[in-house]
Amino acid sequence: MLRLLFFFIIISAISFLASWFADNRGLVFVDWLGYRIETSMMFVVASTSLAFVALLATIELALYIWNIPSRFRTRNKIHRYEKGLISLTKGFTALAISDEKRAKQAVRESKNLLGVRPITHILAAETAQLGGDTDEARKHFAALLEYKPTEFIAVRGLLESARKSGNIPKALQYAEKAYRMRPDMEDIPYILLTLYEQAGKWDEAHLFLEKYSSRNWIPFFKKRADFDVKKQKSLVLFMRGKEFIENGEDRESTWLKSYDIISRSLKYDPGFIPAAEAAVDLALKLGMKRKAISTVERMWKTAPYYKMGLSYLEMFASEKEAKKIKRAKKLLSINPKSVESHKVVANAAMKAGDTTLARNHIKLAITEVGETRSLCNMMVEVEKLSDEGDEQLVHKWAVKAKQAPRDDFMWRCGECGHKTELWNIKCEECDSFGSVKMTGFRSEFKKLPKKEMLALGQEN
Ligand SMILES: [Zn+2]
Repeated sequence: MLRLLFFFIIISAISFLASWFADNRGLVFVDWLGYRIETSMMFVVASTSLAFVALLATIELALYIWNIPSRFRTRNKIHRYEKGLISLTKGFTALAISDEKRAKQAVRESKNLLGVRPITHILAAETAQLGGDTDEARKHFAALLEYKPTEFIAVRGLLESARKSGNIPKALQYAEKAYRMRPDMEDIPYILLTLYEQAGKWDEAHLFLEKYSSRNWIPFFKKRADFDVKKQKSLVLFMRGKEFIENGEDRESTWLKSYDIISRSLKYDPGFIPAAEAAVDLALKLGMKRKAISTVERMWKTAPYYKMGLSYLEMFASEKEAKKIKRAKKLLSINPKSVESHKVVANAAMKAGDTTLARNHIKLAITEVGETRSLCNMMVEVEKLSDEGDEQLVHKWAVKAKQAPRDDFMWRCGECGHKTELWNIKCEECDSFGSVKMTGFRSEFKKLPKKEMLALGQEN
């Protein structure tokens, strides 16, 4: 619309000028080199204008021709960029579906088309990671460290490759850096904590956990189903206490300090067996029998454990055997559902010579978990003690014990399945960290209601 208007203005200006010149013809004389030219003013103006326009057109054409090579280069460049973009798209798509072959092809193509750039490094690094080529990935991530926008992804990548190659100190260095850069990235705090633990930096791990809980940053950890803050705190404090004993002098002040730390660990998880065992040992060493007793009673709620039950009975060594049955029954009342509780009562009953009570409790345990080796062996003991002293029964249970599945292992590695009687932060077989968990073998009593079970416990 505006152009049209402009066009009309020009046209009317030209026609106005033409008619003006027509009205005011005037004459122009040129006398030059013996020639004499006589013409009108309008002709002079028109021909000068035409000459000017022709000059402009010539310049334009010359420039156009002059610029052909550079325009060609630019077009070529844009074309390469577009092709590069397509190969990057192909590469990242291949990565998304874990197609290593296509991703590698895209890495080569995009490098050819786009040259060395952060984005080609990212593609190359991720592709190398997909193929498990840690060295190649590390090379690209190291290059990405140079660029500010890719610094974080570089640190993360280097952290991952250090973890994969088992270089804990290096991984820790990168995790700390990544945490400083982006503390809000939810897996970074978790990785950092795990690395503190793997490096045995229990003080740092403890401080880190404290900071997290005090700042109420736990939501980061909450998103991880396998993460239990209380259990983590318990573990970290226990390891600190243990370290204290291992590195300190073997004297009362060391025991006391360690006991202090380990009992704080138990506040977070009273059922953490290694900590409970250590706390009981230290309490007894320090002459604090009541503390040892209450530690066992507290742990019994969540982690009843036959050996610990026997230690509990030993704490009442001065009492009569019949009284010790009552002590055992106290554990049963704390956790009436547990097979371990019944085993402790059976043990106390046997010592007091009450074979009927002992037999009842072992059988109750057998109905629940089946004829395990330890239960069969207990039956052998009971039948040996029994007044009737039935040789055949003793033999029957002894045979069964040999065939029965073992249930004396407390701990099992979640990674390699190695079973062990002693807990350790690292699996002694496969070196996995924190994989040793309690065996699921000790299934709990569920079928019988609490009342009925207590009644059984009171027989005789
Ligand atoms: Zn293992």
